[in-house]
Amino acid sequence: MKKRKVVKVGNIVIGGNNQVVVQSMTNTTTKDIIKTVKQIKRLERAGCELIRCSVPDEEAAKAISLIKSKVNLPIIADIHFDHKLAILSIKNGADKIRINPGNIRKEHLKEIISNAIDKDIAIRIGINAGSLNIGNIDKINALKKASIMVEKALEYIDYFENNKFKKLIVSLKSSDIKTTLTAYKIFSKKSTYPLHIGITESGSRFGGIIKSSIGISALLSANLGDTIRVSISDDPIFEIFAAYNILKCLNIRKKYPEIISCPTCARTTIDVINLVKKIENFIYSLDFSGDKTLPIKIAIMGCIVNGPGEAKEADFGICGTGNKISIFEKGNIVETFEKKELEKKFYKYLKKYNIISYHKINKVTYF
Ligand code: SF4
Repeated sequence: MKKRKVVKVGNIVIGGNNQVVVQSMTNTTTKDIIKTVKQIKRLERAGCELIRCSVPDEEAAKAISLIKSKVNLPIIADIHFDHKLAILSIKNGADKIRINPGNIRKEHLKEIISNAIDKDIAIRIGINAGSLNIGNIDKINALKKASIMVEKALEYIDYFENNKFKKLIVSLKSSDIKTTLTAYKIFSKKSTYPLHIGITESGSRFGGIIKSSIGISALLSANLGDTIRVSISDDPIFEIFAAYNILKCLNIRKKYPEIISCPTCARTTIDVINLVKKIENFIYSLDFSGDKTLPIKIAIMGCIVNGPGEAKEADFGICGTGNKISIFEKGNIVETFEKKELEKKFYKYLKKYNIISYHKINKVTYF
């Protein structure tokens, strides 16, 4: 497979040998600048690197310049149908715009391109299976659907290139995993533009993260993806948590500490389920903005019989030891103490492994 092109969005580089970039989308009303900025800052703390905002009206397009002045992340303006909103967003400082060229007239597309060239910003061609005008899409098989999506993307790329525009990123999303995977596979044989990937409209936090993980993992395992968005119907912060967990499972990027925990059984002598929730809430409330990473493993195991041994790849962990609790490092017990001392002792190890000093803590409950 040929190396994909590199496209810069603000200070973020997408494609080539660069790391997979994690992005999300605000679900506030964009023209509500206070709420939108607040949400972007929260997503940035969780590690979001690019943020997309919908631009449904002029006020939203104009809000981009003020939002941009208050946040650190490059802003992508998401436009449907109205080329004037795309142009206004570009003039107001959007670092990239996302359009589906199929719902914008060619002569209007030309105006968008010329404005994007003036400001030297990127454009994502977002092909979405659901928005293709090809009759009853549910009756068409995955290969046929994917081929039509790729055909459309290549047709638009031609148009952009003929108008001297090459700062393109392409997405070929469907809510069907097979169609999405097939589309990216076919496309990557015909073009080297960087790929924005995801499974669109994937569902709720539970089902959507499962579906997105399966789809995105299949794509990334085939080296198809330069920037990812997990799209779920929930607080977008879970999109960021899910994205980094997918990358971690595939050994592509490690940003958050990994929590190893046992499923509990009759041997369990500590409240593993609630301890895991507490630790996850703590981990996910740390500041992961910019290039901050904590690639360590923490284990929470129910008993001393199997716990330390089964979790010996963890940097440190706790396990139940009869009426007491033990802390182990790389599988070896280093301390055993009364249950009531757990918080104090655990804190000592969080400090030892740099988790406390490196990150600012923002006490919130996610799980
Ligand atoms: S680590 Fe111990 S408590 Fe946890 S599932 Fe295994 S045997 Fe059961």
